[in-house]
Amino acid sequence: MRHRSTPQRAPGLVALLALAAWLPALAAAAPAAGAHAWDGTGTPAELDAWVQQRLQGADAALARLLAAKGPRSIENTLQPYDEAFGAIVDAICQSQVLYGVGASKELRDKAQALSETTQSALTALNLNQPVYKALSAIPAPADPGVRHYLERTLLEYRLAGVDKDDATRAKIKQLQDKITERSLVFNRNVHDDVRKVVVDQAQLEGLPPDFLASHKPDAKGQVTITSDPPDTSAVLKFANSAPLRKQLFLAAHAVAFPANTEVLRGLLTAREQLAHLLGYATWADYAMADQMMGSPAKLAAFVAKVDEASREPGAREDAALLAFAREREPALQKISAQDARYWQEQYRRAKFNFDSQSVRPYFPYAAVEKGVLDTASKLFHVQIRPVAGLRTWHPSVTTYEVFDGSTKLGTIYLDMHPREGKDKWFSTQPLTAGARGRELPDGALVCNFPGGAPGDPGLMQYGDVVVFLHEFGHLMHHLIGGQNRYAGQGSFNIEGDFIEAPSQMLEEFFHDYGVLAPFAHHYQSGAVLPQELYLRMTRADTYGRASDQQRQLIYTAMSLDTHRLEAAGIDFDALWRKDFEHYSSAAYLPGDHFWAAMTHLTGYSSNYYTYVLDKVIALDFFAQFDAKNLLDGPAGMRYRQAVLAPGGSKPAEQLVRDFLGRDTNLDAYRGWMLAEFATDATASSSAH
Ligand SMILES: [Zn+2]
Repeated sequence: MRHRSTPQRAPGLVALLALAAWLPALAAAAPAAGAHAWDGTGTPAELDAWVQQRLQGADAALARLLAAKGPRSIENTLQPYDEAFGAIVDAICQSQVLYGVGASKELRDKAQALSETTQSALTALNLNQPVYKALSAIPAPADPGVRHYLERTLLEYRLAGVDKDDATRAKIKQLQDKITERSLVFNRNVHDDVRKVVVDQAQLEGLPPDFLASHKPDAKGQVTITSDPPDTSAVLKFANSAPLRKQLFLAAHAVAFPANTEVLRGLLTAREQLAHLLGYATWADYAMADQMMGSPAKLAAFVAKVDEASREPGAREDAALLAFAREREPALQKISAQDARYWQEQYRRAKFNFDSQSVRPYFPYAAVEKGVLDTASKLFHVQIRPVAGLRTWHPSVTTYEVFDGSTKLGTIYLDMHPREGKDKWFSTQPLTAGARGRELPDGALVCNFPGGAPGDPGLMQYGDVVVFLHEFGHLMHHLIGGQNRYAGQGSFNIEGDFIEAPSQMLEEFFHDYGVLAPFAHHYQSGAVLPQELYLRMTRADTYGRASDQQRQLIYTAMSLDTHRLEAAGIDFDALWRKDFEHYSSAAYLPGDHFWAAMTHLTGYSSNYYTYVLDKVIALDFFAQFDAKNLLDGPAGMRYRQAVLAPGGSKPAEQLVRDFLGRDTNLDAYRGWMLAEFATDATASSSAH
């Protein structure tokens, strides 16, 4: 659920006064008793106390489970197990969110330490033999959703190695802790390593006015640009200066290098050893055993199909791009990795008469937020209302309650703009697991969109707008799927390689004029996004889809290869280059250490393929909606009930079949990639 994207403005404009006003008085310290670690004082001590309380609650539930007399049942065994599981998950979620967004370094450091503590508690639960034996002794439940939960829990126990001897289990625990620790260090190295390049102001030609406004030259006429995504993406896309693009590309692709070389090797070695201990040939085999995909062999077959579908149209796109670039630079042999986005932008402007800057005035942050909430409300038949007075971790965070009629589904927290020390990505974070009658599933978006400072309208790129709805798709999945009886039946507990399907499906809605027009209004004049501008934008947007899918296969290959080759012998640069060159026609730039900051390697490990698999499923899902009436037709409610509401109480494969009436296929995916080659048809059918 973490994404790189393309915001325009630089981070760092923290409203310091507001921050100081928000920091609570230390004297007001009170024990943490609420549902959230920030409900009281917001101090590191409060977070610590809150987490310890959750972990003690988990211990108490497990003691109750183990002390139960008589035959094992749902009530005396699964129920207390789920209470313990839910308490630990809440402690993990909130430690992790504060690690990314905590207002002070002290709080983030405490949150990082507690992320390890809480993950370790989950590992210990997953290796608890008496609990496993008690769960195994429950007779098969009649309710299919409860039966699935129990069966999947027992499968996860076996995958965790619970049936191994004491010495092996101790070793497993040690490796799990090492994996958690190395992952946190890897991510923190990325988070903390901001590279800066200082350039002459004259080199900024081509960059949009608001970039220039937020990057004023110093007394010597020099401008500082950082490797953070907002700066990097703007420069690589818009800067006319090839030397600047190269300099910043190398800076951004050296983040956490070389620091993460041995961190990554340590992580991969620990995973490899763990897979071997558990009887799997590689970590990739192990990590896919409880996923929809099932095995690396099935993945190879799937990748071959996707490659077959995307390679030829991708090559056509690349050839057109190169021909276009050669009109301006006749000597050009190949487009270099650092120049690809620039040429794509130039191509889009020339071929589709579309400048991605031209739509930004129609997407000021506040209107987009309202548009996202309204779209989700209509589509999923929920009501989303602002709620005032809730404590949060930062004054810029806004809060909403989500209702289904009179039933409250949960609370959402939106932390949407960059600030110093905050996580630089785009993510959805569950805050509480959700279990009917026990607690509601709360969640947060942690994003870095433009805006947030007084007087800044936060003009977003179209891509940002789509990312916002994507993340909101995760949030809706969590809230709607978090209403089951047990915490372990929540959406976050479904097969991990299904997670990106509901979010990617939602992206498609914002390619529709009828959905955009109600909120895409000019931030000064109020004029609606003109239909002919929209048409040019969507035509430009369809260009590059196939080569984009080929790029996803690069990441898929890197993620898989690092987890199936022997860690000790991997030359990460060479491997990255090999995978890059297999799927990309662009020239590899020596000094590109992208992998060192590829945090997906910690979270998704070998399973980056999730994005591609879920794109295929998402497009198949979207094709079931009435293109003429996307939000108001019956498909929205049917989708909510068949796909979102079950959360993790059914196998993902079953959810797909329940909604489609069949298994998924690549038909819609192929059509989506080929849309650019039939732009006239696209233009006439997608506008209404
Ligand atoms: Zn996502």
